[in-house]
Amino acid sequence: MDFALDARTEELRDKLLAFMDEHVYPAEAQFHAEVEANPDRWGPPPMIEGLKEEARRQGLWNLFLPSKEGAGLTNLQYAPLAEITGRSGAIAPVALNCAAPDTGNMEVLHDFGTEEQKKQWLEPLLAGEIRSSFAMTEPDVASSDATNIGTSIVRDGDDYVINGRKWWITGAMNPAAKIFIVMGKTDPTATRHRQQSQILVPRDTPGVNVKRGMHVLGYDDRDHGGHAEIEFTDVRVPASNLIAHEGDGFAIAQARLGPGRIHHCMRSIGIAERAIELMCKRANERVAFGRPLAEQGVIRDWIAESRVKVEQLRLLTLKTAWLMDTVGNKGAHSEIQAIKIATPRTVEWILDKAIQVHGAGGLSQDFPLAAAFAGIRTLRFADGPDEVHKNSLAKAELRKHL
Ligand SMILES: Cc1cc2nc3c(=O)[nH]c(=O)nc-3n(C[C@H](O)[C@H](O)[C@H](O)COP(=O)(O)OP(=O)(O)OC[C@H]3O[C@@H](n4cnc5c(N)ncnc54)[C@H](O)[C@@H]3O)c2cc1C
Repeated sequence: MDFALDARTEELRDKLLAFMDEHVYPAEAQFHAEVEANPDRWGPPPMIEGLKEEARRQGLWNLFLPSKEGAGLTNLQYAPLAEITGRSGAIAPVALNCAAPDTGNMEVLHDFGTEEQKKQWLEPLLAGEIRSSFAMTEPDVASSDATNIGTSIVRDGDDYVINGRKWWITGAMNPAAKIFIVMGKTDPTATRHRQQSQILVPRDTPGVNVKRGMHVLGYDDRDHGGHAEIEFTDVRVPASNLIAHEGDGFAIAQARLGPGRIHHCMRSIGIAERAIELMCKRANERVAFGRPLAEQGVIRDWIAESRVKVEQLRLLTLKTAWLMDTVGNKGAHSEIQAIKIATPRTVEWILDKAIQVHGAGGLSQDFPLAAAFAGIRTLRFADGPDEVHKNSLAKAELRKHL
C-alpha cells in the first residue's frame, strides 16, 4: 500500500486548495445569508452557479466518477480531494458537481442505464444542469432492511404503474431535482433479493406528490434540497424507464452504496479537520480564569485525541479506497462497513469537543459546528444504520472462526 499522492492528484489538490481559498471560503457568509433570507427556496442559492462555472473551467468537475465521462480518478486519488471539499460541505461538493445523492445516481445511470436513459438524464446531470434524488426509504417499514420496501411497481402494457410512500428523500424538495430513482417491488413472490426493481420517475409525472421536507434536529437542510416525503399515486411511466431488469433493484442499491459510503467518509474527515482547526484557534484566543483555554490540560487532551482519531480514520479510509481500486467494491466490503461505522461516530466526538471549546457560541449559527454536528449524526442512519453494518461485519468475522 502506497498512499503518497501521485503527480495528477498533487496537481488537482493544489488547484482545489486554491479554489477553496479564492472562491469557496470567501463565499460562505453570503451563501448562508442568502439561504437564510429565502425561507421558501429549496436548493442552493443562485450564487452557486458562478462557483460551478469556475470549478468546471478549472477542470475541478465530476472528480468522483472514475470513468472517462468523469475525471477518471481512482478512489485513492479522489479521497484527498473529497476530504478538502468536506471542509465546506454545503458549497464545495455542489460547486464541483460531486454532491450526494447525485453522485450515486450518476453512477447508477452510468453503470446500469440504457443509452436512451443516459442521454436523457445522465448527460444533464454530468453537466450540472439538473439534480436528482434516490427514493428508497419508506415511513411504513423498517427500511434499513431494504427487502421490506413496499412500494409497488406493476407492469401494465407498455408502462409501469407505481404506488407507495417514501420519506427522507434527500434533495427532492429542490425543483431542480428533475429525476427520481425509485426503488419498489415488481415481484413480491420472487426470492427475497429479487423482488425489487429501480425505475426512473421524472418529478413532473402525474401522481407524484412531494409533500413536505423532514427536519434533522431542527435543520431543514434547505440549501441541500431538503429531505422530502413523497407520495406516488398511480404514477405511470414507460416500461423503458426501468433500470436494468426486473429483480435487479436490490443488487443495484448495493452497488450504489459502496462508493456512496466511502465518499461520505472522505468528506467527513474534512469536516473533522475543520473542527480541529476551529477548536485550536478558539482555544488559543479565548481566556478564562486568567489563561488561554489552550493551556487547560483537558482541552489539550481533546485536541490530541482528535488528531489521533482523525489520522486513524484517514488511514482506514485510504486503505479502503485502495482495496476498492485493487480488488473491487465487493472485496472491500468489510472495510467499507468498518469506515462507515467508525467515521460518523468519531467525527461526531470531535465536533462535540470543538463545540464545547466554543462555549454556547458553538451551538449557534455563528459557527459551522452545530450544523455539522446535526449532519454527521444523520450519517449514523443514512446509507445504513451503524447496527446493521456492525451485525454484518461481526457475521463475517465469526465465519472466519467457525
Ligand atoms: C438526513 C438523512 C438523509 C437520508 N437520505 C435518504 C435518501 O436520499 N434516500 C433514501 O431512500 N433514504 C434516505 N435516508 C434514510 C436512511 O437510509 C434510513 O433512515 C436508514 O436506512 C434506516 O432506515 P429506517 O429509518 O427505516 O430505520 P429502521 O429500519 O426502522 O431501523 C431503526 C433502528 O433499528 C436498529 N436496527 C435495524 N436493524 C438492525 C440490526 N440488524 N441489528 C441491530 N439493530 C438494528 C437500528 O438501531 C436502526 O437505527 C436518509 C436519512 C437521513 C437521516
